[in-house]
Amino acid sequence: RLEVRSITRAFGGRPVVNDVSFTVEPGQVTCLLGPSGCGKSTTLRIIAGVDRPDTGVILMDGKPIAGPDVMVPPESRGTGLMFQDFALFPHLSVADNVAFGLKGTRTEKRLRVRDLLGRVGLARYLDSFPHELSGGEQQRVALARALAPNPRIMLMDEPFSGLDNRLRDGIRDETLELLKEEGTAVVLVTHEPEEAMRMGDEILLMRQGRIVQAGAPYNIYNAPMDREAAAFFSDIN
Ligand code: ATP
Ligand code: MG
Repeated sequence: RLEVRSITRAFGGRPVVNDVSFTVEPGQVTCLLGPSGCGKSTTLRIIAGVDRPDTGVILMDGKPIAGPDVMVPPESRGTGLMFQDFALFPHLSVADNVAFGLKGTRTEKRLRVRDLLGRVGLARYLDSFPHELSGGEQQRVALARALAPNPRIMLMDEPFSGLDNRLRDGIRDETLELLKEEGTAVVLVTHEPEEAMRMGDEILLMRQGRIVQAGAPYNIYNAPMDREAAAFFSDIN
């Protein structure tokens, strides 16, 4: 269970994340949705521990991981991170990419890597190199790599936006399925209402650094808080 309590972050005196609070329950997919520049990535980076809040606290299963006098390093937070430019290591094989950062014996690592690559449908590419894979296949390797250390919460920042439309739907669904199997909760950042509707258990609508509306996808879709929110959702059919 991830609790974000009243975090703020300003750059050059301008608040970019402003009093943001929310909770992510185990197994739940929470979408941070909002227009470009509203503070989504900054919020995610603060949760991941690659940036820190000016004020506020973040708790993982009741333990503070970020706050005025706490700063747990990213690798000890129980969070996994996936970006749009997932950047596999080009000089490492697919198997070594997934094993990167894993702890344990060689045999344990091999088993985990085989299991994960099997589940994303890429078992036969164990010894291939990233440049030998398509964009969609690389994305699935990146997912396997992010899942390998068994994070409690997967933090995803527009992870599907580099893919063409046809591939994207399939990979979205596969990704969700795999994360649900593992019991991993997700914070998904997106500026596409359609993606949030499709993937989210809960949507947090952000605007200018604040969460202005929160709720189940269909509640927000059916009762947007104002005209601006309605316009934002009106492109979905
Ligand atoms: P997008 O959908 O375009 O990715 P976003 O909601 O993820 O947008 P952020 O990346 O969180 O937006 O940025 C929010 C604002 O904070 C932007 O105006 C950005 O220029 C500013 N910002 C982010 N990081 C920094 C930084 N390190 N220094 C100064 N300004 C920053
Ligand atoms: Mg962003």
